[in-house]
Amino acid sequence: MSRSAVWHPFTQHAIEPVPPTIARTDGAYVETADGRRILDAISSWWVITHGHRHPRIMRAIREATETLDQVIFAGLNHEPAEQLASALVDMAPAGLDWVFYSDSGSTSVEVALKMALGFHRNNGAVRTRVAVMEHSYHGDTIGTMSVGARGVFNAAYEPLLFQVDTIPFPTAGREQEALDCFEQLAHQGEAAALIVEPLVLGAGGMLMYPAWVLAELKRIAERSGTLLIADEVMTGWGRTGTLFACEQAGIAPDILCTSKGLTGGSVPLAATLATDAIFRAHFSQDREKTFFHSSSYTANPIACAAALANVGIWRDEPVIEHVAALSRMQADKIGRFNNDPRFENVRMTGTIAALDLHVGNAGYLADVGPKLRTFFLERGLLVRPLGNVIYVLPPYCVTSAELDRLYDAIDEAGEFARGAP
Ligand SMILES: *Cc1c(COP(=O)(O)O)cnc(C)c1O
Repeated sequence: MSRSAVWHPFTQHAIEPVPPTIARTDGAYVETADGRRILDAISSWWVITHGHRHPRIMRAIREATETLDQVIFAGLNHEPAEQLASALVDMAPAGLDWVFYSDSGSTSVEVALKMALGFHRNNGAVRTRVAVMEHSYHGDTIGTMSVGARGVFNAAYEPLLFQVDTIPFPTAGREQEALDCFEQLAHQGEAAALIVEPLVLGAGGMLMYPAWVLAELKRIAERSGTLLIADEVMTGWGRTGTLFACEQAGIAPDILCTSKGLTGGSVPLAATLATDAIFRAHFSQDREKTFFHSSSYTANPIACAAALANVGIWRDEPVIEHVAALSRMQADKIGRFNNDPRFENVRMTGTIAALDLHVGNAGYLADVGPKLRTFFLERGLLVRPLGNVIYVLPPYCVTSAELDRLYDAIDEAGEFARGAP
């Protein structure tokens, strides 16, 4: 066989082993061509919600292909996009009345940033800066890297990134510092928007903060005329225990980004939801006030049909009960590490559980990361630690027995801890 021409994402080809080829996916598993079943404990990078190849979503995709493929979405409309927009407005926090489609989490965030800047400019205000939270991740395009944490991932591109104002992460016990910092920034009057991942910062290391902090951030934003952008790309569709994480704070952001679980994780699609005020700022006889954004595959009809099937599953099936049951199982099973000196910061929010392996050299490039990946894969488990942060973010169909197998392996992985016997 000739060598592969594939350049994989976030992969150091000089060091990492050749990845197994997946031939089939099924429920909580991905399967290799020779029939090895690997438990997908990270929902294939946080996208799969109910499980791989949910029959209802697969059927909707097949049926959609009988009548539609891509249709230009400027100047033309189609029924799947229309129905999905209406469903999203119904399901999202109140006041998010407009739906703008794109095709990935990153593009949904780019759209959100452009909407925020456009809103102020079209209203004649000079607000051109963006406030962000320390340790955030919002995507890998130049714009989304700019509003995300700086580090080894984007050091080479730093000269291209725009400047932002960073508020501290609301660490337990020091939440007020983050709030005070934002309050100060907001009242300087230059911030167009604050962008946050509600409740859980994913790529930053599954860092969690309480809902009341999010509610306070919203209150400060509102009083100062700063827009609040909730990046729910990872947290949406049940991951944190509610459909959207913002619900737990009892708030509605001005702009909400959703992607990953929007189609149950089956095919790419994204949406940026906005308030009527933001739409109105772009609604004008003056064509210069048009919202100038598009991607070729905006509102792909097949992807919209998949998302509509996902919405149907949320409406007709007890998804939120599955999510609650999974949250209870996670709490129950991760509890065994609470006073275990090999681990630190045992934490969870909704269906997401995480803990830090006690090591000398922490951080994303901690040597232990790739070792752990191999360790788990050898045991038929797909786990992808963020440096020394081990997290479990499974599809909702995962069973208690499967989680037991996983947590037993995490227990065994304690041998990688510094000073472990
Ligand atoms: C994954 C992620 C993104 C980027 O989504 P892509 O589809 O990979 O572009 C943005 N924001 C958050 C919070 C994410 O977790």
